Order: sequence, then C-alpha cells, then structure tokens
Amino acid sequence: MTRSAAGGPPGAYAGIDIGGTTTQVVLCTGDLTVLDRAEVPTPAAEGGHAMVGAALAALRPLLDRVPARLLGVGVGAAGVVDARAGRVLAASDSFHAWAGFAVTAAVEAALGVPAFLDNDVNAFLRGEVSKGAVAGESHVLAMTLGTGVGGALWLDGALFDGPRGAAGEIGHVPGFGDTPCSCGGRGHLETLASGRFIAARYAQRSGRHTTARGVAAAAGRGDPHALAVFGAAGSAVARAILITAGLVDVTTVVLGGGVSGAWPLLEPSIRTALRADPPVSGAPVRLVRARLGSDAVAIGAASRARTELGAG
Ligand SMILES: [Zn+2]
Repeated sequence: MTRSAAGGPPGAYAGIDIGGTTTQVVLCTGDLTVLDRAEVPTPAAEGGHAMVGAALAALRPLLDRVPARLLGVGVGAAGVVDARAGRVLAASDSFHAWAGFAVTAAVEAALGVPAFLDNDVNAFLRGEVSKGAVAGESHVLAMTLGTGVGGALWLDGALFDGPRGAAGEIGHVPGFGDTPCSCGGRGHLETLASGRFIAARYAQRSGRHTTARGVAAAAGRGDPHALAVFGAAGSAVARAILITAGLVDVTTVVLGGGVSGAWPLLEPSIRTALRADPPVSGAPVRLVRARLGSDAVAIGAASRARTELGAG
C-alpha cells in the first residue's frame, strides 16, 4: 500500500467476479495484493440490480474493515460484455435480466468511484498476467476449461479483445469434429475440452454418467474410456494452442478452469502434441497452469481498474 501524498489512508482497488453461482469480491492494494475477500451466492435469477446489489453488499464490510480509500472497481462477468460501455450484451439463460444491464453505471452510482467491466475470461487473463502464473509476460493465450471453454489474448503487453470484444474465443472455433456445441455451432473446441462434454463423451463411450471430475478420477484408476476422453481433450487443446501461436506468435499459454484441476492427465497429452507439431517459428510454446485459483477473475478486474486509472 502506498500512502497518499496528503497523508490519508492508502488507495485500494476492488475486484468483483460475478459468476453463475457465486460472486467473489476482493479488496487489493495498489500492487494488487489482496487485503480482504468475500464470497456470496449470485442471485442470477433475480436480475442485474440484485446481482450487483449482492456484490456491493459483500464489498461494503471489506471497506469498513480495511483502512483504505477506494480508488476504483473492476467487475468481471460471464457472458458477452461491452467492456467500453460497461454493459452486458448477452448472457446465458441462467441469468435473468442481465443482458443489457449497465453494470458500471450501477456500481459508480452506488460507490461514487470509477468502475470498469470485463468478460470473465479476459479478467482471468489480466489477473494471471498481473499477479499470477504469467506475471509480466507480453504475449499470452489464456484458456479456461470449465463447464465451457473460454479464451483470451494478451498481445504486446495489453489485452487484445478485438472490435467486438470476442478476440481469443478459441473455445468456439470449428475444426474439432462435428459434435453440436453449446453455442449452437458445431465441432468447436469446447465439444472436446470442456467439463460438460468430457462428461458427455465418457457417458457415450462407457455408459456411465458422472461429472468431469468423476471422469478424471476414473482415468486415475486406469479406465481406458476416461483416459481416451482426456487424451482427446488434451490433443484438441494443443491444436488450439498451435493455431493461436501460428497466427499471433504467443509465447506462453496459461490454462485455468475446473477441468485444469486434472493437470496430471491433461498436461502430458498437451505437451506431446505441442512437441510433435511445433510452431513455424521453431520456438516452443510455454504451457503453465493458472496460479490465482478462484481469485483470478476478481484480481484481474481490480487490475483493469488500476490500469484505466493510470496506476499500473
Ligand atoms: Zn461453440
């Protein structure tokens, strides 16, 4: 924490991660060290006002406990967002009255400080670049293997989200078979590498219904169907990495999300495929596992606020 020139309390940034089931809130110092945190259920069925209200109600006790002056707030949210206007553009069916909601306007009205909105995977990448597994790197692809597959790009030391905010969405490019995807497309990376589809493919092969975590446990016991499903997921992730490296020359890939918990299963198949087919540069792509865990999106959101306010 740095003391303000006037000698008042040190400045702090808040980061809010509004997920489908839980909302995480962190309060950070100027160098993004977490001072305090809270977690509350997301009232996703009750609409944008309730969701932001729950996040702010979780943040207020932190502001009371920690002697700091709030400088800005970053919010990371699932779905398609307009990061410039601070508004949600589209969200899954589980969120009621969230698409169209002006998130930053609601936060600014409540707290009287500037607020910023990011897509959650972009915020995840900001977090890992700021304080996590790829701290200080300048060319990074992030992939989150969760219920779905998210992606984000960090190029020349800054987030590259494209003119429509959809750059880096490697989970929804075709060329990975012909299974229908959750987004309505077909043959997307997500249909091989997401938790939802790992569970579905295992059920199809083995006749046994379980979660992706259950499939990972079965693979750990040597179940050939589970091993095959994870092998296919790993080689698909590697192919997505190689496509990205060939296109924009990322040097490093950071993998997060619940499915990356099966790291001992995924890592060997990804590394094997990366070695078998190196990028045309000849330089190998570095593969690392995310380090910030469930804090990544919230810390990344706080980092966006810090960057926008010119402090880092
Ligand atoms: Zn898709």
